Amino acid sequence: MEQMLAIEGGKPVRSELLPYGHQWITDEDITSVIEVLKSDWITQGPKVEEFERKIAEHCGARYAVAVSSGTAALHAACAVAGISRGDEAVTTPITFAATANAIVYCGGKPVFADIREDTLNIDHKEIQRQISPRTKAVLPVDFAGHPADLDEIMAIAKERGLVVIEDACHALGAEYKGRKIGSLADMTILSFHPVKHITTGEGGMILTDNEEFYEKLKIFRHHGITKNNPDKGSWYYEIYNPGYNLRMTDFQCALGISQLKKLDRFVERRQEIATRYNEAFGEMGEIITPVEKDDGKATYHIYVIQLRTELLKVGRKEVFEALRAENIGVNVHYIPLHLHPFYQREFGYGKGDYPRAERYYDRAITLPIFPKMSDDDVEDVIKAVYKIIRYYRR
Ligand SMILES: *Cc1c(COP(=O)(O)O)cnc(C)c1O
Repeated sequence: MEQMLAIEGGKPVRSELLPYGHQWITDEDITSVIEVLKSDWITQGPKVEEFERKIAEHCGARYAVAVSSGTAALHAACAVAGISRGDEAVTTPITFAATANAIVYCGGKPVFADIREDTLNIDHKEIQRQISPRTKAVLPVDFAGHPADLDEIMAIAKERGLVVIEDACHALGAEYKGRKIGSLADMTILSFHPVKHITTGEGGMILTDNEEFYEKLKIFRHHGITKNNPDKGSWYYEIYNPGYNLRMTDFQCALGISQLKKLDRFVERRQEIATRYNEAFGEMGEIITPVEKDDGKATYHIYVIQLRTELLKVGRKEVFEALRAENIGVNVHYIPLHLHPFYQREFGYGKGDYPRAERYYDRAITLPIFPKMSDDDVEDVIKAVYKIIRYYRR
């Protein structure tokens, strides 16, 4: 007999909400933070440098600059890439708003390029179509932790003289054709928000091999303060362009250093959960599971299914609300950026501009995935999805 859905008054699969993502902080992490709090330095100091060095080493990048968030990292990268009033930068409509907002902070216009239907990453052929004489940069996003087509994108950028800022906020620990994410683009962006692979509460980082970008990023992070005239006194500095205060604190970086030790295990656990989901949902005709190309390593920051709504009696909204009622903390990543009022009002985008992104959005649901999930949690998600899809199946 079919079980009654929680949304119709039945018993929910879980008694408490399972979030879609969650941090995993251990006593060892906490001890490392307390040590710093008891020391002389609490804002940007030696732990920031150590965290930068360790992440750079881990990702195979020459330089790393820690900042207060992934958004701040995107802002700083767009600024040092030279995006300014009247410039354009090409990015995907399926990303967190911060990717495009950062272009706007610098006075630029985000120009979207539609996604691929398989990996849901920006389509490099669409990037070609969107480049204009005003284009300064391309911002691919490694959606869900699956690397974008970086070889193709880097080749286009090289030919057109563009800077590639890879938004890898989903992809710390991922690999592309045997190379680590963080060693491939002109600048790579990381976030340490609690739902990301490792956390510092809030925090972000820019990785680069380019010394000029590196120096400019450090100045941008610290008010635009430039010390290139030591003859005038050791206190002396000049501001050529106002920067910001985007500094991270030493105690956050202590947490990051401690978390980084667990990154490989965290990623493995995410892959393990994704494999279980693939197996459970792979044979359900109503569900499209994530595509993983075999030339890389995806890190599953999120696990997104797409519903073949033509096989269901209801749409995505009803399935979503039914899952929430079962206490499965589903989410939607993301509302296509060109559909937000700001982007429509300011840049004239409208519905229908990016059909593949819109089609994806209409059918997408993000299921919970994070390293601390137990096997029972994973089975609860599967149970709830089965229960609801069976109920609504045509
Ligand atoms: C999380 C995220 C950001 C922003 O990072 P914050 O640290 O929250 O500012 C930017 N882009 C993408 C794709 C993200 O997932």
